[in-house]
Amino acid sequence: MFNSLSDRLNDTFDRLRGKGKLTEADITSAMRDIRMALLEADVNFKVVKDFVAKTKERCLTAEVMDSLTPAQNVVKIVLDELVELLGSTESKLVLSSRIPNVIMLVGLQGSGKTTAAVKLAYLLKKQGKSPLLAACDVYRPAAADQLATLGGEIGVPVFRGDGAHPIEIAQGAVREAVDKMRDVVIVDTAGRLQIDEQMMQEAVDIKRAVKPDQVLMVVDAMTGQDIVNVVSTFAERTDFDGVIISKLDGDARGGGALSVRAVTGKPIKFVSMGEKPDSLEVFSPDRMAKRILGMGDVVGIIEKAQEAANAEQLEAAERMLRDGFTMNDMLEQMRMLKKMGGMKSILGMLPGGQRMLNQMGGNIDDSVFDKIEAMIQSMTKQERVKPSIINGQRRARIARGSGTTPADVNNLMKQWGEMNKMMGKMRTMAQQAQGGKKGK
Ligand code: GDP
Repeated sequence: MFNSLSDRLNDTFDRLRGKGKLTEADITSAMRDIRMALLEADVNFKVVKDFVAKTKERCLTAEVMDSLTPAQNVVKIVLDELVELLGSTESKLVLSSRIPNVIMLVGLQGSGKTTAAVKLAYLLKKQGKSPLLAACDVYRPAAADQLATLGGEIGVPVFRGDGAHPIEIAQGAVREAVDKMRDVVIVDTAGRLQIDEQMMQEAVDIKRAVKPDQVLMVVDAMTGQDIVNVVSTFAERTDFDGVIISKLDGDARGGGALSVRAVTGKPIKFVSMGEKPDSLEVFSPDRMAKRILGMGDVVGIIEKAQEAANAEQLEAAERMLRDGFTMNDMLEQMRMLKKMGGMKSILGMLPGGQRMLNQMGGNIDDSVFDKIEAMIQSMTKQERVKPSIINGQRRARIARGSGTTPADVNNLMKQWGEMNKMMGKMRTMAQQAQGGKKGK
């Protein structure tokens, strides 16, 4: 998502950086490029107009033009304005003290409502809540079955009320939650392919009947310019509190998603980056803007690592620092990277990583993990803990055993060598830091 927007913006910044001092014409030309990049990414034209006007005005000040690093200042201003466009600060999901809390999801059919309901339930469950899902989409065939299956996978009960009217189902779910001591009810409502009066009225009626604490609208990031009409109508009729953007992992241009906040004034609360229950992330304007500008999302990487790591792995990290890096560690690292969502997702969060990924054609194959795994598994116990003993003969044997080539094994040895060197450096740094502390 946002790949070509990222590329275009970075090209513009590169051109500015190449200039040193900037003239008014340089800024005007850069703003024209930014305008085109945003329009081509499907950002709403009115939003683009305001964005560029504000950014240009801030860039054309003496403070920026006469500074020692004008290009850097322009980048910083674009970043600031992008953060502002996306909503400035994180907008957390606020639950009230009422039990059960009711969260109602609205949106068009296919926007990802049902899966978002499950993802939200999963997230809340991880936070110690006990959610109940209410299947109020009685029109889409199998919607309730889909919810029941997915709910079963994450261990969250689903209230179906088969055959009942959606309003009764929602009310029944709230009663059931009281009975069964569930503290949050997540209501999945029916959507239609397009804005439709009956659907709107039903959402309004359910809202009136169960008085949700939060109404969240699910918006598909792949919707193009039409997104503005859709969210505006929903905002007017259901007065929702926040937005969940789904399918941000896809390769659509995504500009519609960037326009939602400016068009409705409602905050984006979550983004969904995949089909699995764990792919819902709390939305952070700052982190998203930095990702779009290719500046990396370090917080995101740390969070992913913390989720994937267990106490054993943290202990292993300490041991590696102490005793050096073995092939077993390398195997463990590969497995961890896989768990963190694969190379593509990690690279996408590194500064400049998205660009590198785009240069590689947007795809990077995780089969490299499988190859490395096979090679390490073909090593003897002794070879794994002391890779330096792996000579030419052993390399040929490992290649045969793992169905790879000696060149693959050589590459792996080289990687191990690099990592071991880095580990050595970190060890020295850690020792120096400890020595420093003791000396004080
Ligand atoms: P609903 O009609 O609004 O309830 O939509 P669904 O929840 O059934 O989702 C429609 C389709 O989009 C399903 O195939 C989902 O698996 C898929 N989907 C939903 N969210 C995401 C996402 O964040 N990423 C991807 N790749 N697919 C998604």
